[in-house]
Amino acid sequence: MKNGKIIADLHTHNRYSFDGVSTADACFAAAAESGVDIIAVTNHYDIDGVLDGIYDDYDAESDHLEVMRGREKHSGKLRIIWGIELGQPHHCPREALEFLERFGFEYVLLSMHNMRDVPDFCFWDYGKMSDSMCEYWLGKYFEQVLEMLDFPRCDALAHLTYPYRYMKQAGRVINFKRFRDKVAEIYKKLIARGAALEINASGYRQGLGVPMPDEELIALYRECGGELTVVGSDAHDARDIGACVERAYELLRKLGYRFTYVPANCGFEPIKL
Ligand SMILES: [Zn+2]
Ligand SMILES: [Zn+2]
Repeated sequence: MKNGKIIADLHTHNRYSFDGVSTADACFAAAAESGVDIIAVTNHYDIDGVLDGIYDDYDAESDHLEVMRGREKHSGKLRIIWGIELGQPHHCPREALEFLERFGFEYVLLSMHNMRDVPDFCFWDYGKMSDSMCEYWLGKYFEQVLEMLDFPRCDALAHLTYPYRYMKQAGRVINFKRFRDKVAEIYKKLIARGAALEINASGYRQGLGVPMPDEELIALYRECGGELTVVGSDAHDARDIGACVERAYELLRKLGYRFTYVPANCGFEPIKL
């Protein structure tokens, strides 16, 4: 608890992610020490990349064991949710569904790090691209996110403006106004299927200065009737667990929200902002 508020960090990585730095144990200890009450472990499984042999496989069984050990160790103090950040499941839906069924995740965060047959947005050289070329690819990205939301299991959509994290770092300036209709379509689909919009707080500490999506696009979510939000730090290092979660809560409050949500019993339960 911080200032009498429940803190839930619903997007975290440990060493079971190819880019995770800390052990699960260190992440849980950091959460407990920094006043986080609920943590979701959401390691990467970019299923197309794994099947193509680009990424190492993900050891779900060992990850799950760590979750169970953490639950015992921090019982009564820290709630640990067994989740996954599943990338591009729509590129191989049958395999993705089999994977989910096999491991019984409590929380499935969908993300799109790359479009079909194209490398992850983090590998592009935006220094060589004009703003308008970046906008063109962002448009394509939003179209494919919409398509990804046809995948049968989705509890929440991660970091909606993901490519912009890297475009901004390279100095590109994007005006999201031109994407309002496309984003509204994504929101409508999320809302219709009862899935949540993630407010990814990593943008605050990674050069964006704003969360993903940003204030304007969260306001659009509210205009579309969106109520279900989840907040995550997207920490890849124990020291970032819980980082800027309260700042995201503050933004949600400013936009008129009274609650954010945490996964519970195959649905969501509210926590007061
Ligand atoms: Zn991600
Ligand atoms: Zn992540």
